[in-house]
Amino acid sequence: MAFDYGKLVSGGIGKQLATSLGLPRPTRLRRHRVGDSLIPGAVLLGGHGQTPVADRVRGLLEAEGIPVATSASTSVAGVVVDMTSVESPADLESLRAVLSPALKTLAPTGRVVVVGRPVEEATSVAQSAARRALEGVVRSVGKEMRGGGTANLVLVAEGADEGVDATIRFLLSGRSAYVDAQVVRVGEPVAPVEAPADWDQPLAGKVAVVTGAARGIGASIADVLARDGATVVCVDIPAAGGPLAEVANRIGGTALQVDVTSPDAGAKIVEHAQARHGGFDVVVHNAGITRDKLLANTDAERWASVLDVNLTSILAMNEALVPAIREGGHVVNVASIAGIAGNRGQANYAASKAGVIGMTTALAQDEQIRAKGVTVNAVAPGFIETEMTAKIPLATREIGRLTNSLSQGGQTVDVAETIGWLAWDANRGVTGTVVRVCGQMLLGA
Ligand code: NAD
Repeated sequence: MAFDYGKLVSGGIGKQLATSLGLPRPTRLRRHRVGDSLIPGAVLLGGHGQTPVADRVRGLLEAEGIPVATSASTSVAGVVVDMTSVESPADLESLRAVLSPALKTLAPTGRVVVVGRPVEEATSVAQSAARRALEGVVRSVGKEMRGGGTANLVLVAEGADEGVDATIRFLLSGRSAYVDAQVVRVGEPVAPVEAPADWDQPLAGKVAVVTGAARGIGASIADVLARDGATVVCVDIPAAGGPLAEVANRIGGTALQVDVTSPDAGAKIVEHAQARHGGFDVVVHNAGITRDKLLANTDAERWASVLDVNLTSILAMNEALVPAIREGGHVVNVASIAGIAGNRGQANYAASKAGVIGMTTALAQDEQIRAKGVTVNAVAPGFIETEMTAKIPLATREIGRLTNSLSQGGQTVDVAETIGWLAWDANRGVTGTVVRVCGQMLLGA
């Protein structure tokens, strides 16, 4: 059996040793299960002044039957702090005054969500400074929190408050278990925000295409999208036909064997989705490979193979997919933390994943995409427990697992849940963003 530090320190002598040496002990994260309430306990709602955003959050919590607390005297499961009305750094005291006592009583796997406005929309230098300061606070709180808790910042553009509900829901829920210290930007929705009839089926009636769906993160994405109500077209290479069919059968979807680098891959996907399901609403570009080597030893073939699968294929497929995706749809690309921070031995992979991020931000602004009301976002996973990462040498693997604020690797489902949220029609204000699913990995850019 492979060595696993997290399991070793979860009980017995390992636990005692870790406690006495002050070593990290990963907490079992709270993950979403169908039928779960949004958050298991009261949410403390505070902030700077009474603003429309605070009213929205209160309404959302009350509609879900979540008790709303106004002081940290009792233990709470989450804290939402509305800082949308800050004018200058002096106003940040309101944030400290809420968080400081609350962090002492926050239940394990607690959630901190701070809501602010974008720095670019500030009307004075002092306001700009105060708005940006929220980022520093949230990223530090993420590093201070214990017990599997997370802290995230939501920046809502002026006039775009309606779009904030979906993100608050996601961040309070178990769906965001491994999303930590992120800044999520909510802008004017690209199409009307539509809440689902049933929040346990936010993708009911949708058709989703997932590439690389035969195993790993892709198989989890297919599972989660199907669980949430979507019919899934599972795409993978012919050599993975067996496991691909298993995934598709398990979730009542269809399998399409196609190599994403083949010139007609996009056309084949469109043809399949239209013939079998009448069209498609969601595309998840997940298929990806690594062929690691120091750049000094990387030949043209090794370089090109990774760029072809991870980046060029998406650009080519989108030529067919973008015109065909239904109005109000969602495109989600799977990038990587390596595309943000770089990684030794992964210049080709990091190039491809940074390219995916560049493509995401540009496509989100594309006229054709915006006219169709389609969102385009990316997720950047950190260390996720898959067959691929299980093969990493022991020391490197344990460093990958532990060097994040949650002291553990993420599960494939954590990436899948984040992609699911980016595919909600209730979430049409988030576009052109990159959300890291990395437990606040300490690896910096
Ligand atoms: P994986 O190797 O387990 O699965 C990748 C899937 O993609 C496989 O089923 C494979 O057959 C398929 N695929 C590969 N080339 C293809 C092609 N040309 N056409 C169609 N399908 C193809 O990998 P994973 O860990 O599940 O990674 C999924 C995605 O997440 C990748 O884009 C990867 O770069 C990214 N990612 C993973 C991690 C991690 O820690 N595992 C971290 C960051 C990013």
